[in-house]
Amino acid sequence: MAKKRDYYEVLGVEKNADDSTIKKAYRKLAMQFHPDKNPDDKASEEKFKEASEAYEVLSDPDKRQLYDQHGFAGVENAFGGHGFDWGNFTHADDLSDIFGGGFSSIFESFFGGGFGGTGRSRQQSNRGEDLQIELSLTLKEIAIGTDKKIKIGVKEACEKCNGSGSADGKVDSCSQCKGTGQVRQIRQSLFGQMQTVSECPSCRGEGKIIKNRCSKCYGEGRMGKVNEINVKIPAGVEEGQYIRLRGQGNIGPRGGTRGDILVLIHEKQDDQFEREGRDLYIKYPISFSQAALGDEIIVPTLQSSVKMKIPSGTQNGRIFRLKGQGLPTLHSTHGNGDILVQIIIITPNRLNKEETELFIKLKEFDAKRELKPGKSFLSKLKDYFS
Ligand SMILES: [Zn+2]
Ligand SMILES: [Zn+2]
Repeated sequence: MAKKRDYYEVLGVEKNADDSTIKKAYRKLAMQFHPDKNPDDKASEEKFKEASEAYEVLSDPDKRQLYDQHGFAGVENAFGGHGFDWGNFTHADDLSDIFGGGFSSIFESFFGGGFGGTGRSRQQSNRGEDLQIELSLTLKEIAIGTDKKIKIGVKEACEKCNGSGSADGKVDSCSQCKGTGQVRQIRQSLFGQMQTVSECPSCRGEGKIIKNRCSKCYGEGRMGKVNEINVKIPAGVEEGQYIRLRGQGNIGPRGGTRGDILVLIHEKQDDQFEREGRDLYIKYPISFSQAALGDEIIVPTLQSSVKMKIPSGTQNGRIFRLKGQGLPTLHSTHGNGDILVQIIIITPNRLNKEETELFIKLKEFDAKRELKPGKSFLSKLKDYFS
């Protein structure tokens, strides 16, 4: 194992860094190494854990003081004497704004730990893995909610051995741990004698040993299959959110429980709208004459379209609000957001002879309007035109 790196070095901060600097440094690393962004990348997972451990210590004044005085030995007790694991991490909420509401649950699923709790129980060690899939949705689908069928590779119980992993149905109790799945060790530390409990290396925590393995699944008790699953997408979801399908992930080895499927929502770029929360933005081009005289325009919405009045003398860049035409709020009956229509006045080019003559005539009128450059020219324009 590589030498443990200094916590300040891990986060890339000075010894005297203040809380907000530490938090910022950690968030940056979390963004970079979070397993959601690096699926199946062990190195990133390790880096993420290393940064989280450093943050857990340096963000807490007591632990930080102990660490400054005694180094790693000073915080050993805070982590239950057997090193940091995810059960010791108390800052999942600090990250939920980066990774969406599903963060702490995905955290649990990746590391099998209960947050701020006591860590994993033996039961969980035989739980199948969670699976992650990405689902791309259009804004229209997001607006009304949708049902999707997805094919996904899932590990199911081996049919040959009924999931036991044993060719003859025999499963022996592990002799090293006597079937408990755990081994105990007594160690000396700065704070005296400490007992540590770790997973039994012979049976990898299962407490059971199979001598005669099933020939089909090689003793794992499970095989890969392709399942078709239904995913119900509620209206109003956002990029980066998760939908958790409980108990639909991999089955655990040798009769274990099932993991979950996590559906990561990805929002497809829309051709017309830009989304900001529940609101939708659209740019709408109109002509000089429409802006000067006023008009009625047809604005597209996600479902169909609506008519909108533009008053005479509308300036370039003005934004109109179409109330309630935006997206719904997730899991809420509160009203929809709005569509914000920004007017863009398009200068005509390639004028024909008649148009040119008309513009020359208009220019004579325009010459009477004093347009002066300066900071507040927009309000001046208003004075002149309305
Ligand atoms: Zn089998
Ligand atoms: Zn054992």
